[in-house]
Amino acid sequence: MAGIYIHIPFCRKACHYCNFHFSTSLGSAEAVVTSILKEISLRSSEPIEEIQTIYFGGGTPSILDPEIINKMLQAIKVHYAVSNDPEITLEANPDDITVEKAKAWKQMGINRFSIGVQSFADENLQWMNRAHDASQSIACIHTIREAGFENFSIDLIYGTPGQTQQGWIKDLEKAIAMKVPHLSCYALTVEEGTALHHMIGSGKKEKISADEQAERFETLVQLSSAAGYIHYEISNLALPGKESRHNSAYWESRPYLGFGPSAHSFSGIKRSWNIADNLKYIQSIQAGVLPNEEETLREIDQLNEYIMTSLRSIKGMQKEIIRTRWGMDKLQVISKEIEKFVVAGKITSTEKTWSLSREGRFFADGIASSLFFLED
Ligand code: SF4
Repeated sequence: MAGIYIHIPFCRKACHYCNFHFSTSLGSAEAVVTSILKEISLRSSEPIEEIQTIYFGGGTPSILDPEIINKMLQAIKVHYAVSNDPEITLEANPDDITVEKAKAWKQMGINRFSIGVQSFADENLQWMNRAHDASQSIACIHTIREAGFENFSIDLIYGTPGQTQQGWIKDLEKAIAMKVPHLSCYALTVEEGTALHHMIGSGKKEKISADEQAERFETLVQLSSAAGYIHYEISNLALPGKESRHNSAYWESRPYLGFGPSAHSFSGIKRSWNIADNLKYIQSIQAGVLPNEEETLREIDQLNEYIMTSLRSIKGMQKEIIRTRWGMDKLQVISKEIEKFVVAGKITSTEKTWSLSREGRFFADGIASSLFFLED
């Protein structure tokens, strides 16, 4: 089982908090797409298992004409063995979702959306510099449902400057009332080089409060579980059966191919990443040279990745997997190190697993990194 990720590096506007690779100038869009099509073909001899999930991310894939998305989809089907029932996700922003586009996406086989709602409050969307308003966020959910899509996710951000506890509750209640099948909820992080970083540095926006983010996270846990959502990964919640197959495969360290500028690929042992520069990407691919760098993960890198991803997921760390893949010694070291988190009530230990308790969930990344091995 493997996945394919296609990075579409274009957006209508630059959101003030974003540090993904994208451009707001669509001048090179045609050449980037031509190059992605060529990359799909150039790499078709790389060994990869059957493709079960395809994910168009970015950037904003919905900014492109659906026919262009379809071309890439067809190219994947020509060059790779795709399963009979693949999950095919398109990231879309509310302002791009129209009845006509929804029909076209449905016809080509897109069967899941990840929609960049971020907030249902206009004042938040405005300072974020989003290209849509709250009414478009609501309208687009109706539009895709009317087009026959029942499998979709929305992104929401919490712990943002100026967001009150009441405001966050309102956002969640809106999503729950609309029975949105999948929620990806992220605590805002302030990345260097973003407009938000500058705004906070110059005092135009308040600093992010870790305590407030922890409070928002607890509210998320309470409201979503009361509404029947399964908190299957720290930032991801789904109504039963609506978990993302593509993202779950990432967290299970399954292999994937990534096409397009800045896209990452993972073979299980090697990780590679394409250059995050549209022009250099185009030039290199057109010359028949893959513009990527790669690293081979050492055994302990693989173990550290397993610790991080498994701890973030509802399944937790499987003791038997650690013992059989990395040996009894490593299992014993983890067992000793993790004890303080068990005593503090942040980790639940069973015969077979270690998983985060409700109290421990907000501290997932810190706990995981404290368990990392630095050398063999
Ligand atoms: S639409 Fe998404 S990728 Fe584009 S700038 Fe905004 S957050 Fe970043």
